[in-house]
Parts: sequence; structure tokens; C-alpha cells
Amino acid sequence: MNSHVKTELAPIPFIDVASQRARLGTRIDEAVARVLDHCRFVNGPEVTELEQKLAAFAGAKHAIACSSGTDALALLLMAWGVKPGDAVFCPAFTFCATAEVVPWVGATPVFVDVLDDTFNMDPASLEAAIKVAVAKGLNPKVVIPVDLFGQPADMDAIEPIARAHGLKILCDTAQGFGATWNGRRTGSFGDASATSFFPAKPLGCFGDGGAVFTDDDELVTVLKSLREHGQGVDKYENVRIGMTGRLDTIQAAILLEKLTIFEDEIAARQRVADRYNAALADVAVVPAVDPRATSVWAQYTIRLPHGVRDGLAAALQKEGVPTAVYYRIPMHRQPAYAQYPAAGNGLPVCERLAGEVISLPMHAYLDEAAQDRVIAAVRRALAG
Ligand SMILES: *Cc1c(COP(=O)(O)O)cnc(C)c1O
Repeated sequence: MNSHVKTELAPIPFIDVASQRARLGTRIDEAVARVLDHCRFVNGPEVTELEQKLAAFAGAKHAIACSSGTDALALLLMAWGVKPGDAVFCPAFTFCATAEVVPWVGATPVFVDVLDDTFNMDPASLEAAIKVAVAKGLNPKVVIPVDLFGQPADMDAIEPIARAHGLKILCDTAQGFGATWNGRRTGSFGDASATSFFPAKPLGCFGDGGAVFTDDDELVTVLKSLREHGQGVDKYENVRIGMTGRLDTIQAAILLEKLTIFEDEIAARQRVADRYNAALADVAVVPAVDPRATSVWAQYTIRLPHGVRDGLAAALQKEGVPTAVYYRIPMHRQPAYAQYPAAGNGLPVCERLAGEVISLPMHAYLDEAAQDRVIAAVRRALAG
């Protein structure tokens, strides 16, 4: 095969929503049509059904559907009354939404370093960050461990630190929904969890959506009020300051169909990861999954020596293999967030990772031929 033929191959999609839609085909159309028929576009019966099925899936007592993963995080900080003077501990190697919601309630994000192998919150750095917050006169209030790239954070290590300092644990499982830690699914850890159904997440809808998970009955009452403008028993009585935070019925109907194939999709993602791992471990640092964890592979992210990544991305682009860099700038270096404190030891791992990581195409519909194209292109580019 000459190079001309190679460039004729269609580009591989980084995330493939179309194949999934083809698989579910009429089921999604029919689910949407049912909503169009009953016209209960807000708070329709599909929302309640989805909440029950999500809770059962996660192994949590309650799931509360909402408008996005970001709003799920914000609703929890609002429900807990997090306020100015409070410190909320966030890893600096994450999507911005983890920390973005903290200034919304007037509190201060305090950035924590991550572990070199799993890229998740470093418990030792969390301890250091708590000391920094106290020294600055802040009240340590909440820790938000993130299940980065689909792998749960180390709950065995984070929970005792949080308990010792009276911190609420808000698990940001926007990327990790469906993953396990010690055999338990995410959504069942901490005081509450937030997830996202943004289309590119492992379980995505056809727009924006999210959910909160918790076992706390009283918290559920407050969250349901907050997502309806703080309504009381009567719809037009406002007992607290809330927001429009609901999940649309159409999105719930779509998610109900997608949830039926989600476990199968997670298994398919695992097969892709296994093949990538076996084929790339000698040319790059492949992802490390803690033996206590399983990942849902929201991203498949490799590490390369500093300065190599961008050349690889350009070479792969020429072969129709897309890549992405999550995250090029750690949160504590972002212009909007640089003013906030970080753990006392600096955040050297976040800074190193920001220069070394690159994510390869990963989804449940990436067939072996496409995987082989990715693998061959990566190996060729790194050899050249
Ligand atoms: C996507 C994401 C969010 C936000 O979810 P949205 O639904 O896009 O608002 C929060 N945290 C992390 C780690 C994410 O990846």
C-alpha cells in the first residue's frame, strides 16, 4: 500500500456517537416520539424512571437528574451551604467545571496535586492543601476527588483524610460513571457524587444533562427544591434560592435507552484499552489502573517525554487519526484560577503531566481495524 492510498482512508472519529445511534436506531426515535406524544417535556415520567434506574445501576439510594454535570456539582455546594470563607479542595489536573462551581457560591478552590500513575488526587497533597487553607484562615469544607479519564480516585486514602478534617466528599464522576472501586460502582462513594451526560462522556445524552447520587434522604429534598428555583411544598413558594436545574424529559428518554447497553459498551471500551496497552506499552507510558479499580475509559491517555506529544499529534493527524490533549494547562495556571491557593508543595505532577499527556481515539465502536490503524500510526510516528 502506498502512502497515497493511506491518506484516502476516512478519518477515525475520536468519539463515535453515530455508530451508537445506528445500533439503537429506532429505539431512540421511538423513545423521543413517546415524549412528543405525551408533551410532558419537563418533569415527565421518563425523568423519574431514569432516576430510579440510575440509582440502581450505581448502587446509590437516590439519583437526582439535573441539567448538567456542572450544575450537579453546583447544586451540591448550594445544598450544603458552602459559602465565602470556605475552602473546597480540587485536583488541578481536571476539567475546569470541578473548580468553577466553587467561586459561584463565593467559596475558595484550593488546588491539590495528582498522582503520577493514575492522574487522580494525591492524598498527601490533599493533606498539604488543608494546611495551606487553614493557614490562610479558610474553613476546610469539601473535597472533590475526580475520577479522571474514567478511573475512580483512591477513596480508601481520601475518605479517612476527609473524615479527620470534617470535609464533605463530593465525588466528581463526570468521566467515571460506571467504573468501580473495590467492586463498588462510582456514585456510591462519599457524601454525594456528581456525573455528566454530556454527549462525549461514557454515558452521554443528546445535549446537556447530569445527575447527583447520594444516600442522604434530607439532601435529596433540598436538591429537588434547588433544581426548581428553591420551591417549597407549593410550587410558587420559594423557600431557598435555587435555579433551573432540571433534566429535560427527552434527554431522560434517550438515556433510558442508552443505559440498557451501557455495560456492554464499558466492556467494549475495556477491550480497546487492553489492545492499546499490549501494543503500545513499549513505546509510551500507557495508563495505569489501580488494582482496586476498573476504568470506563472516558479517555485513553498515554504519556511521552516532554516535547514529543505535539509532533505525534501532527503526524497522526496526517494519517486521519485524531488526538486530544486533556489538559494542556492545569487549573492553578489558568488565568481565571491562578489567584487561588494551591497545596504547599507546589503541584509538580500536574505541571509535568500537562506537558506529556495525549489521548487517543477511544469509544465502544472502535473496531479492531481502526485500533490497528491507530496503533500502527503511533508506532510509526514515534519510531520516525
Ligand atoms: C465534563 C465534566 C464536568 C462537567 O460536566 P458538564 O455536563 O459538561 O457540565 C465536570 N467535571 C469533569 C471532570 C468533567 O469531565
